[in-house]
Amino acid sequence: MSTDVIEIPTAAYTIRVRARHGYERNPAPRVYVADAIAEARSADLAEHQRQERALGERRFAERGKDAEVDDLYDQLNDEIMRAKTLVAREVLASLHLTVDGDLNAAIDRAFFSRNAGCDMCPCSPGVVAGTKLTWLGGAFDVWVEAR
Ligand SMILES: [Zn+2]
Repeated sequence: MSTDVIEIPTAAYTIRVRARHGYERNPAPRVYVADAIAEARSADLAEHQRQERALGERRFAERGKDAEVDDLYDQLNDEIMRAKTLVAREVLASLHLTVDGDLNAAIDRAFFSRNAGCDMCPCSPGVVAGTKLTWLGGAFDVWVEAR
């Protein structure tokens, strides 16, 4: 394994810390939490996803056409953001021996962004740490995935 990546297995998930190369528009680390990890953490989220599946064809309703569907998606999105931010904060805290910088600020001011990894479109939503941190002296990002 290259020294650009470390893998930290835990009971609930695997944490991968990867050095970031190239353009750094914002050096604060991004934490990308897999959907399954967020779902496992939040009973509300699992319930909303069950309701979404139960919508059947209605889930394709255009926004503004079906208030019940819109509400469900709003709640689902809020819950995804909450669950992923919760896991990301926990993961950042667990890196206290691995990374350098003001970890308290990184955790306290962490926020979910649809554009965490891409300014152009919401292809890489994730949690942006509240401040710059470094790993082995450079910028990095974190992936939280199933074991
Ligand atoms: Zn994109």
